[in-house]
Amino acid sequence: MNVKENAAIIEDSIERACSKVERNPDEVTTIAVTKYVSTERAKEAIEAGIVNLGENRKEGFLEKYSQIKDEAKWHFIGSLQSKKVKDVIGQIDVLHSLDRKSLAKEIDKRAETAVSCFVQVNISGEDSKHGLEAENVLPFIQMLEDYPKVRVIGLMTMAPHVEDEEKLRATFRQLRALRDKVRNENMAHAPCEYLSMGMSNDYTIAIEEGATHIRIGTSLVGNETYGGE
Ligand SMILES: *Cc1c(COP(=O)(O)O)cnc(C)c1O
Repeated sequence: MNVKENAAIIEDSIERACSKVERNPDEVTTIAVTKYVSTERAKEAIEAGIVNLGENRKEGFLEKYSQIKDEAKWHFIGSLQSKKVKDVIGQIDVLHSLDRKSLAKEIDKRAETAVSCFVQVNISGEDSKHGLEAENVLPFIQMLEDYPKVRVIGLMTMAPHVEDEEKLRATFRQLRALRDKVRNENMAHAPCEYLSMGMSNDYTIAIEEGATHIRIGTSLVGNETYGGE
């Protein structure tokens, strides 16, 4: 299927998930994760009306950015090595993977203007996942006051790869509760309004639990075995 058809299906699912919990679909931003596919395929997403694109590696990001530039809003969703910050920080609009002080420090040093960041949280506690443990999130964000170029707009997580809907729901609920806790601190550098959670296999559940940014690759633009048609 082409991206436009996929986008229509996803838009439908977003609307249904929203109406279930009486949310306005306008509150949900869909990010097309293009890490598996070609620049051409990424352009199809833009033609289908999805202007938010997500990449998880510096090389893939710069390749697509060089051809698409201002036609998209760029989300960096993968873990970012500090030494690579200088190569991407001027081009990305939103970083979804802030997970350590050294990265905040480097962003503060290299960025010309404030960078919108999600702090990544490892809710599920799996060793394989990046992100802060839940209990460390608030102190970490308080500490970020020392880095004025870092603006915390929300929290991000990746749910565990499980079928169990209740487990997924519990993960998303915990991130939301943590977001509420940080937001209630009313810190000028950390409005922390948003929730980046939900991927191809779990985004409708994430939306029911309050996601404001969903990151969809496979079911929107496809993956390498299928994409780039
Ligand atoms: C790859 C990736 C996604 C998209 O995954 P799909 O299952 O293909 O939708 C979302 N978020 C992050 C951080 C990713 O690395």
